[in-house]
Amino acid sequence: MAEPELHIEEQGAGESVEHAALTRALLAATEALQVLQDKAVGSAQAEIFRAHQELLEDPTLLEQAHRLLTEGKSAAFAWNSATAATAKLFLGLGSALLAERAADLADVGQRVLKLILGIEDSAWELPDRAIVIAEQLTPSQTAGLDTRKVLGFVTVGGGATSHVAILARALGLPSLCGVPAQALALANGKQVLLNADKGELHLEPDLAAVEQLAATRKQHILRREREVEQAALPGITRDGHHVEVTANVASLQEVEQALALGGEGVGLLRSEFLYLDRNRAPSPEEQAGTYSAIARALGTQRNLVVRTLDVGGDKPLAYVPMERETNPFLGLRGIRLCLERPQLLREQFRAILASAGFARLHIMLPMVSLLSELHLARKILEEEATALGLTELPKLGIMIEVPSAALMADVFAPHVDFFSIGTNDLTQYTLAMDRDHPRLASQADSFHPSVLRLIATTVKAAHAHGKWVGVCGALASEALAVPVLIGLGVDELSVSVPLIPTIKATVRELDLADCQVIARQVLGLEEAAQVREALRLYHAATVETSPVVEH
Ligand code: PEP
Ligand code: MG
Repeated sequence: MAEPELHIEEQGAGESVEHAALTRALLAATEALQVLQDKAVGSAQAEIFRAHQELLEDPTLLEQAHRLLTEGKSAAFAWNSATAATAKLFLGLGSALLAERAADLADVGQRVLKLILGIEDSAWELPDRAIVIAEQLTPSQTAGLDTRKVLGFVTVGGGATSHVAILARALGLPSLCGVPAQALALANGKQVLLNADKGELHLEPDLAAVEQLAATRKQHILRREREVEQAALPGITRDGHHVEVTANVASLQEVEQALALGGEGVGLLRSEFLYLDRNRAPSPEEQAGTYSAIARALGTQRNLVVRTLDVGGDKPLAYVPMERETNPFLGLRGIRLCLERPQLLREQFRAILASAGFARLHIMLPMVSLLSELHLARKILEEEATALGLTELPKLGIMIEVPSAALMADVFAPHVDFFSIGTNDLTQYTLAMDRDHPRLASQADSFHPSVLRLIATTVKAAHAHGKWVGVCGALASEALAVPVLIGLGVDELSVSVPLIPTIKATVRELDLADCQVIARQVLGLEEAAQVREALRLYHAATVETSPVVEH
């Protein structure tokens, strides 16, 4: 698929005419985005279109466009220049997250531009059983894919953490990003075979391979249906060991969705995502209202783990201006930033504490690398709790995502109520590989034995002090990793919402005793690929042995 070239005249037909044209297009785009939001399948999808609507109200963007209109430019030219300049600004900041915002801006920018130019956004004419191959898909294009016809898609650009990837997961569409540009030269209608599990696009598939993958796909679909049907069942292994399966969330909507899919609580509320798009800090009342609403939705029988602001690194927050750093991932990130600006942390603690009593409240500190950080944060929390007249402190824990914290888990354990292992960052810091680096993506693998050994060290230290350990990094959302995590003694798996039923079903197919054997085995292997292979064999022999039958 390729996008048509748009023809844009620079000069306008008078400021008032062009101003009216831009206003009309912005209004029409906002309405179209509202329709898409209302029709959205999941909260992730709705959230993206809401963010697009917000981008259309961005004052800097509108100011730039209006300034060009006063200079006599056409609405199309003014709008296009303003979006391009803003997107370039985002891209130039060297952050993966802002690069995604740039992609969103380009997407919503095109939508408005086509409306100004009166170009119909014709639906793609796709054949049945289509694999879409494109330079890059926009979030709107992805959300608009007709899943009755499209079996999957492949893009040259994009990353595994992009909005497009989030949408693909929500739609249950296999997708592959970062393939060589030659894929674009393939003729329409040519038969290809996409195996997204393995990250492979076969250009000359034979009939046997096609049939085999079609059968596997059918099994996947049936298994998914069964998992969702049984999502309310607890995650208990065959030999009776309960593993709590909770959700990673970033909004109230996601909490509701998680509960509907059998989530037993929230293991990670990424609080920075609540206000990522804001230019001003939310008021203390608004913050307190958000946390309380989420806590109420969960109720007093479920855990709510609120992570304090984790900004810096790849997550700048517009209303917390930061100085430029040479190595943002090694700089003022997470708890370090909050301790530099204690007022920020104080305010957040106060807002979180307002939800005490509505759910089983836990507060979690991100990016802790030194014991002193934990002590300082606890002191602030105690002061705020006292000021509010609370007699009982909520549970306080830390994320284990820096090797120093994992290696010193025995030193931290007496001072915390729980640990939650952030394998995304733990992998990046252990292997010294940027988590967003496209060329290192296949090597920065959380299945590496070094990461697994740090998990083992952490669990051992925590249990020796009677504390529980969760894993909230993406490793917990991988069915393949479940046996090793359970075998190492992890008590809670906090996973991305759509995967809750899958992870619970996986737990129910395992035996703790077997998991302990496989965990010991993989800790002794040499590299991630060997670990994956060992776990794949184990998975095939346990979870996949019983074919799912249609009924
Ligand atoms: C992690 O690092 O594994 C984690 C859960 O935190 P985030 O992905 O938000 O950095
Ligand atoms: Mg992290």
